[in-house]
Amino acid sequence: MEAAGVGSVFLLALLTAVATGLGALPFAFDKHPTRGWLGASNAVAAGLMLAASFGLIYEGVNYGVFRALAGALLGLGFIVAARELLRQDEHPAVFAGMGGLDARKALLIVGVMTVHSFTEGVSIGVSFGGDGALGLFISLALAVHNVPEGLAISLVLVPRGVSVVRAAWWSVFSSLPQPLMAVPAFLFVELFRPLLPYGLGFAAGAMNWIVFSELVPNALEDASRTLVAVVVTASFVAMVAFQVLFR
Ligand SMILES: [Zn+2]
Repeated sequence: MEAAGVGSVFLLALLTAVATGLGALPFAFDKHPTRGWLGASNAVAAGLMLAASFGLIYEGVNYGVFRALAGALLGLGFIVAARELLRQDEHPAVFAGMGGLDARKALLIVGVMTVHSFTEGVSIGVSFGGDGALGLFISLALAVHNVPEGLAISLVLVPRGVSVVRAAWWSVFSSLPQPLMAVPAFLFVELFRPLLPYGLGFAAGAMNWIVFSELVPNALEDASRTLVAVVVTASFVAMVAFQVLFR
């Protein structure tokens, strides 16, 4: 496959960002889902994101083991620090028409998802710096990977009264760093490639945190342990299958 142009790299990365909005889609059919449905959805998002973060760190390790592992710890440290800052902030938080604790929670999730998207954009750009086929595969993988992220964001926003359209917009917003970073990473691939394992590790660490600090506890609030464990594991298997079989 021949090398891609800047325009097509940007467009494909933009499409991966738009795919994040699909995560809000289930709420378009049912704005007031039952608690059992919410619990199962959180479990689905947890399993898919767990497998996605496994995929990211595995890809990072291919570029550099220690840099990827260091990146994962950096991601963890970043979130712990961001959380402390948000907690200490005396100003009342307002986000998407919500206030107080709800706003802080939503702000943290959307913030973490947005920051970790920067490296995913770099990975799109760098992968197109090789041959077009790899870039295409990474874009498709990231588009699929983005859907549960949109679902996770919508699961925080919609049950707290945010509209489905707004939740879809914030989901897409959280992935806009992907097209923004893909272009410079593609143009200056030699400059960005050494940083990639740090970034992929960082993204994986951040996603792992979301899984265990938000998605799994939220799932357990609304569904039984057995159901949550079954759904998380089955979703994990489905995502790993997708990642491996389409490679
Ligand atoms: Zn991601």
